[in-house]
Amino acid sequence: GKMQGRNGLAVFTPDLGKKLLEKLHLETALRKAIANNELFLVYQPQISLTDHTLVGVEALMRWRRPGIGLVLPSVFIPIAEESGLITDIGAWCLETACRDIAQLQREVGYELSVAVNLSPNQVHGVHFQQTIERALSVSGLSPSSLEVEITEGLLMRDSEETLQILEGIQALGVTTAIDDFGTGFSNMSYITRFKVDRLKIDRSFVSKCLTDANSLAVTTAIIALAHSLNMEVIAEGVETVDQATMLRDLECDSAQGYLYSKPLTLADVSAFTRTLHEF
Ligand code: C2E
Ligand code: CA
Ligand code: CA
Ligand code: CA
Repeated sequence: GKMQGRNGLAVFTPDLGKKLLEKLHLETALRKAIANNELFLVYQPQISLTDHTLVGVEALMRWRRPGIGLVLPSVFIPIAEESGLITDIGAWCLETACRDIAQLQREVGYELSVAVNLSPNQVHGVHFQQTIERALSVSGLSPSSLEVEITEGLLMRDSEETLQILEGIQALGVTTAIDDFGTGFSNMSYITRFKVDRLKIDRSFVSKCLTDANSLAVTTAIIALAHSLNMEVIAEGVETVDQATMLRDLECDSAQGYLYSKPLTLADVSAFTRTLHEF
């Protein structure tokens, strides 16, 4: 690896070289991961705060790397995005999630939804709408059972093209949620131009809403904003009963977090539906 030194000359740092090599190895390994069935999804329950039913799940990706162990998305998603692998991995994720939840719906006998995380580069890739359509048609999942989670960053970056892609997806009946809402508050003009279905309050506010007045104020404001624009609102990272009670009192619609469950395998989600009376 080369870096521009202070005097403009390229300097090589062994540390940087090692990091680049590691990244290259990771990228090569990730390229093979789909074909080798090393990627899998776990699902975190989303609970209604009004009647404590399981309303949906969020799909979260995992990579079981042979000889190394479990790799978390914070490590491999950025590499997938930079290398362009996110297009294939993202399509695999959408299709797998739709198939799994269609199966889960048949098992539990009611319509729960699945939220899938989209990365900005994935949405801008060619044929993204066809990727969604294909995932729905091969799985037989109803479009209304699929939600895509996007970030505010995506909506603020070259907005017109992005908004048209998202409107195309919505026209299919798929719903949209803004993930980590409140962390990119600088420009919300998109919200008057594009009708988002749901806001997801970031864990950084949820985790402090009982101890920090500012976090409580932001949480309260997001819930009010959502409801005044006819959107639903979900809180992520709910870890304590007191947080859940506070959120319910603030009329937040649903919640997700370790209080209810860590992300589970599909089989464990189906078992989880039978334990819900505990909340
Ligand atoms: P995210 O979308 O904000 O997902 C929530 C993260 O918080 C997950 O981490 C989840 O396991 C964790 N979490 C859930 N409840 C709690 C809680 O009560 N307390 C705490 N401390 N953490 C909680 P995970 O699975 O490691 O995912 C990290 C990030 O990676 C996700 O953040 C998302 O941005 C990204 N990601 C995961 N799967 C995918 C995917 O399939 N596609 C894309 N594009 N990104 C993904
Ligand atoms: Ca998410
Ligand atoms: Ca989130
Ligand atoms: Ca978050």
